[in-house]
Amino acid sequence: MNESSFILGVDLDGVVGDFYAAMRIIAAEWLNKPAESLTANVGFGLDEWGIAELGGYDRLHRFAVTQRHLFREMRPIKDAPATLRKLSNRGVRIRIITNRLFLKYSHKTSITQTVEWLDNYDIPYWDICFMNDKVAVGAHVYIDDAPQNITQLRGGGNNTIVFTNSTNTGLPGPRADSWKEAERIVLEAMDEWRTGTMNLFSGNY
Ligand SMILES: [Mg+2]
Repeated sequence: MNESSFILGVDLDGVVGDFYAAMRIIAAEWLNKPAESLTANVGFGLDEWGIAELGGYDRLHRFAVTQRHLFREMRPIKDAPATLRKLSNRGVRIRIITNRLFLKYSHKTSITQTVEWLDNYDIPYWDICFMNDKVAVGAHVYIDDAPQNITQLRGGGNNTIVFTNSTNTGLPGPRADSWKEAERIVLEAMDEWRTGTMNLFSGNY
Protein backbone atom coordinates (compact mmCIF):
# COMPACT_ATOMS: atom_id res chain seq x y z
CA MET A 1 0.00 0.00 0.00
CA ASN A 2 1.43 3.29 -1.07
CA GLU A 3 0.29 5.71 1.61
CA SER A 4 2.38 7.88 3.85
CA SER A 5 0.53 7.15 7.09
CA PHE A 6 0.17 3.89 8.92
CA ILE A 7 -3.49 2.96 8.61
CA LEU A 8 -5.39 0.91 11.17
CA GLY A 9 -8.66 -0.52 9.84
CA VAL A 10 -11.01 -0.68 12.83
CA ASP A 11 -14.23 -2.67 13.00
CA LEU A 12 -16.87 -1.24 15.35
CA ASP A 13 -19.29 -3.92 16.57
CA GLY A 14 -17.61 -6.26 19.04
CA VAL A 15 -14.33 -4.33 18.84
CA VAL A 16 -14.96 -0.69 19.78
CA GLY A 17 -18.63 -0.98 20.76
CA ASP A 18 -19.87 -3.67 23.16
CA PHE A 19 -22.34 -4.98 20.60
CA TYR A 20 -23.09 -8.33 22.23
CA ALA A 21 -23.81 -6.89 25.69
CA ALA A 22 -26.13 -4.26 24.22
CA MET A 23 -27.83 -6.75 21.93
CA ARG A 24 -28.41 -9.17 24.82
CA ILE A 25 -30.52 -6.59 26.71
CA ILE A 26 -32.51 -5.69 23.59
CA ALA A 27 -32.95 -9.33 22.57
CA ALA A 28 -34.27 -10.19 26.04
CA GLU A 29 -37.00 -7.58 25.68
CA TRP A 30 -37.75 -8.64 22.10
CA LEU A 31 -37.89 -12.32 23.00
CA ASN A 32 -39.72 -11.65 26.30
CA LYS A 33 -37.12 -13.60 28.24
CA PRO A 34 -34.96 -12.60 31.22
CA ALA A 35 -31.56 -11.34 30.04
CA GLU A 36 -29.84 -13.82 32.40
CA SER A 37 -31.43 -16.67 30.47
CA LEU A 38 -29.56 -15.62 27.31
CA THR A 39 -26.02 -16.93 27.32
CA ALA A 40 -23.26 -14.35 27.01
CA ASN A 41 -21.26 -17.05 25.25
CA VAL A 42 -22.75 -16.47 21.81
CA GLY A 43 -21.59 -17.32 18.34
CA PHE A 44 -21.79 -15.03 15.32
CA GLY A 45 -25.49 -14.79 14.40
CA LEU A 46 -26.84 -15.20 17.96
CA ASP A 47 -28.50 -18.57 17.26
CA GLU A 48 -28.07 -19.56 20.92
CA TRP A 49 -30.75 -17.08 21.99
CA GLY A 50 -33.53 -18.76 20.03
CA ILE A 51 -34.24 -15.76 17.81
CA ALA A 52 -35.17 -17.96 14.85
CA GLU A 53 -38.68 -18.66 16.20
CA LEU A 54 -39.48 -14.92 16.31
CA GLY A 55 -38.30 -14.12 12.81
CA GLY A 56 -34.54 -14.38 12.96
CA TYR A 57 -31.55 -12.10 13.17
CA ASP A 58 -32.56 -9.48 10.60
CA ARG A 59 -35.81 -8.69 12.41
CA LEU A 60 -34.09 -8.40 15.77
CA HIS A 61 -31.41 -6.22 14.21
CA ARG A 62 -33.97 -3.89 12.66
CA PHE A 63 -35.82 -3.56 15.98
CA ALA A 64 -32.57 -2.93 17.84
CA VAL A 65 -31.38 -0.19 15.48
CA THR A 66 -34.61 1.58 14.58
CA GLN A 67 -36.54 1.23 17.89
CA ARG A 68 -33.83 0.93 20.55
CA HIS A 69 -31.11 3.00 18.87
CA LEU A 70 -28.52 0.28 19.27
CA PHE A 71 -25.72 2.17 17.53
CA ARG A 72 -26.20 5.25 19.69
CA GLU A 73 -26.85 3.49 23.02
CA MET A 74 -24.25 0.70 23.16
CA ARG A 75 -21.38 1.10 25.58
CA PRO A 76 -17.82 1.13 24.30
CA ILE A 77 -15.57 -1.85 24.94
CA LYS A 78 -13.33 -1.16 27.93
CA ASP A 79 -10.42 1.20 27.11
CA ALA A 80 -11.31 1.41 23.41
CA PRO A 81 -11.97 5.17 23.04
CA ALA A 82 -8.94 6.26 25.08
CA THR A 83 -6.65 3.77 23.33
CA LEU A 84 -7.80 4.95 19.90
CA ARG A 85 -7.13 8.55 20.98
CA LYS A 86 -3.66 7.53 22.12
CA LEU A 87 -2.91 5.62 18.90
CA SER A 88 -4.13 8.56 16.85
CA ASN A 89 -1.81 10.88 18.77
CA ARG A 90 1.06 8.49 18.04
CA GLY A 91 0.44 8.94 14.31
CA VAL A 92 -1.80 5.96 13.57
CA ARG A 93 -4.45 6.89 11.02
CA ILE A 94 -7.75 5.39 12.19
CA ARG A 95 -9.96 4.10 9.38
CA ILE A 96 -13.29 2.80 10.64
CA ILE A 97 -14.68 -0.01 8.50
CA THR A 98 -18.11 -1.30 9.41
CA ASN A 99 -20.80 -3.37 7.75
CA ARG A 100 -23.67 -1.66 9.60
CA LEU A 101 -25.63 -1.00 6.40
CA PHE A 102 -26.34 -4.62 5.59
CA LEU A 103 -30.11 -4.11 6.06
CA LYS A 104 -32.10 -1.98 3.63
CA TYR A 105 -34.23 1.06 4.55
CA SER A 106 -32.50 2.01 7.78
CA HIS A 107 -29.28 3.50 6.40
CA LYS A 108 -29.94 7.06 7.51
CA THR A 109 -30.56 6.11 11.13
CA SER A 110 -27.64 3.64 11.17
CA ILE A 111 -25.20 6.24 9.86
CA THR A 112 -26.53 9.04 12.08
CA GLN A 113 -26.40 6.94 15.23
CA THR A 114 -22.90 5.74 14.38
CA VAL A 115 -21.44 9.19 13.81
CA GLU A 116 -23.14 10.61 16.92
CA TRP A 117 -21.82 7.72 18.98
CA LEU A 118 -18.26 8.20 17.73
CA ASP A 119 -18.43 11.91 18.60
CA ASN A 120 -20.04 11.22 21.97
CA TYR A 121 -17.12 9.02 23.04
CA ASP A 122 -14.54 11.24 21.29
CA ILE A 123 -13.31 8.40 19.12
CA PRO A 124 -10.94 9.81 16.50
CA TYR A 125 -11.02 8.73 12.88
CA TRP A 126 -9.85 10.03 9.50
CA ASP A 127 -12.09 7.87 7.38
CA ILE A 128 -15.26 5.90 7.88
CA CYS A 129 -16.30 3.22 5.44
CA PHE A 130 -19.68 1.51 5.52
CA MET A 131 -18.55 -1.54 3.60
CA ASN A 132 -19.30 -5.21 3.37
CA ASP A 133 -16.13 -6.01 1.45
CA LYS A 134 -13.50 -4.95 3.97
CA VAL A 135 -10.69 -6.28 1.81
CA ALA A 136 -11.51 -3.60 -0.78
CA VAL A 137 -10.89 -0.75 1.65
CA GLY A 138 -7.21 -1.11 2.45
CA ALA A 139 -5.31 -0.74 5.72
CA HIS A 140 -1.85 -1.74 6.95
CA VAL A 141 -3.38 -3.59 9.88
CA TYR A 142 -7.00 -4.50 10.55
CA ILE A 143 -8.68 -5.30 13.85
CA ASP A 144 -11.93 -7.26 13.68
CA ASP A 145 -13.90 -9.84 15.66
CA ALA A 146 -16.09 -11.57 13.07
CA PRO A 147 -14.65 -14.93 11.98
CA GLN A 148 -15.78 -14.51 8.39
CA ASN A 149 -14.21 -11.06 8.06
CA ILE A 150 -10.97 -12.19 9.67
CA THR A 151 -10.68 -15.25 7.43
CA GLN A 152 -11.49 -13.19 4.34
CA LEU A 153 -9.04 -10.42 5.24
CA ARG A 154 -6.26 -12.86 6.00
CA GLY A 155 -7.06 -14.83 2.87
CA GLY A 156 -6.38 -11.65 0.93
CA GLY A 157 -3.00 -11.27 2.62
CA ASN A 158 -4.09 -8.54 5.05
CA ASN A 159 -2.53 -8.19 8.49
CA THR A 160 -5.41 -8.79 10.86
CA ILE A 161 -5.66 -8.79 14.65
CA VAL A 162 -8.47 -10.86 16.16
CA PHE A 163 -10.26 -8.92 18.90
CA THR A 164 -11.29 -11.68 21.28
CA ASN A 165 -14.90 -12.53 22.07
CA SER A 166 -16.98 -15.69 22.21
CA THR A 167 -17.61 -15.65 18.45
CA ASN A 168 -13.97 -16.08 17.45
CA THR A 169 -12.31 -18.33 20.03
CA GLY A 170 -11.17 -20.88 17.45
CA LEU A 171 -9.14 -18.51 15.29
CA PRO A 172 -5.34 -18.33 15.45
CA GLY A 173 -3.49 -15.14 16.41
CA PRO A 174 -2.32 -12.48 16.38
CA ARG A 175 -5.09 -11.71 18.82
CA ALA A 176 -5.85 -9.06 21.43
CA ASP A 177 -7.90 -9.91 24.52
CA SER A 178 -8.09 -6.23 25.47
CA TRP A 179 -7.39 -2.80 24.05
CA LYS A 180 -4.18 -2.69 26.10
CA GLU A 181 -2.97 -5.67 24.07
CA ALA A 182 -4.29 -4.20 20.85
CA GLU A 183 -2.35 -1.01 21.55
CA ARG A 184 0.88 -2.92 21.99
CA ILE A 185 0.42 -5.00 18.83
CA VAL A 186 -0.53 -1.98 16.71
CA LEU A 187 2.43 0.10 17.92
CA GLU A 188 4.80 -2.82 17.28
CA ALA A 189 3.34 -3.25 13.81
CA MET A 190 3.77 0.46 13.10
CA ASP A 191 7.43 0.28 14.19
CA GLU A 192 7.93 -2.70 11.89
CA TRP A 193 6.17 -0.91 9.05
CA ARG A 194 8.43 2.12 9.46
CA THR A 195 11.52 -0.06 9.25
CA GLY A 196 10.16 -2.09 6.37
CA THR A 197 9.59 -5.38 8.20
CA MET A 198 6.25 -6.80 9.23
CA ASN A 199 7.33 -9.94 11.08
CA LEU A 200 4.54 -9.69 13.59
CA PHE A 201 2.08 -11.06 11.08
CA SER A 202 4.20 -13.52 9.14
CA GLY A 203 3.63 -17.22 9.61
CA ASN A 204 1.05 -16.91 12.34
CA TYR A 205 -1.87 -18.15 10.32
MG1 LIG B 1 -17.51 -6.81 14.43
